[in-house]
Amino acid sequence: MKNCRGMIAEFREFCLHDGPGVRTTVFFRGCPMRCLWCHNPELQQTGSEKSYLPCEAAGLIRRDEEILRSSGGGVTFSGGEVLAQIDFAAALAHELSPLHIAVETSGYGSKDDYRKLLGFADLIYQDIKIMDEKLHRRFTGCGNDIILENIRLLKASGKPYIIRLPLIPGINDAPEYLSPAISFIRENPGNLLDVQLLPFHAGAISKMRKMGRPVPPELPENDGIIPEEVRQMFHRAFPGSNF
Ligand code: SF4
Repeated sequence: MKNCRGMIAEFREFCLHDGPGVRTTVFFRGCPMRCLWCHNPELQQTGSEKSYLPCEAAGLIRRDEEILRSSGGGVTFSGGEVLAQIDFAAALAHELSPLHIAVETSGYGSKDDYRKLLGFADLIYQDIKIMDEKLHRRFTGCGNDIILENIRLLKASGKPYIIRLPLIPGINDAPEYLSPAISFIRENPGNLLDVQLLPFHAGAISKMRKMGRPVPPELPENDGIIPEEVRQMFHRAFPGSNF
């Protein structure tokens, strides 16, 4: 896989919130999902810009290797969706070894591809967007069976992981939608390190406007908050997490 090329939108250096230590975050292009609230809509399509061989991408990242290593940091693969370019991602992780690799993923990909991801990732940030299949299909453009199956693989793998739940006001932030997520997360949790609630970011709306895309009327104009009832539900279910 040394010769497969990857479509990368950005190498963002000195990131402090995408895993332990100082990190370089690599934004992969392309995503098969269409979340209504997507915070990176410009990355959903693969573009026509330059692609990278794994060794080329690794060479750029390794310029900061000393800082990444000495801070206990590493590299985070984000997107877009890493699973959509899994062979390139695996080859890049191989080139970067032994740097710590974190991956942010929706989990929407085949089981084989998700197993490949588990093979090279040291830490996984796994989203759960909506538990209800019909709502998931309506608001993300695809079903969630495959995602939930992959999360079961993740739990059984023993790999350290963090669950992230985007909270979109009026769409998925009601307690009745979130309690099935809590039950699912707590069942055979494996090496679950944390659960994080991600309030809606209105920056997504300005990006859509800049791209000339219609803004879905369901989305609020302003940043969201974590409703108090939801905060308490998660605090009771996961007392170690900082909601
Ligand atoms: S999975 Fe992530 S990148 Fe893909 S559409 Fe949803 S929010 Fe956007």
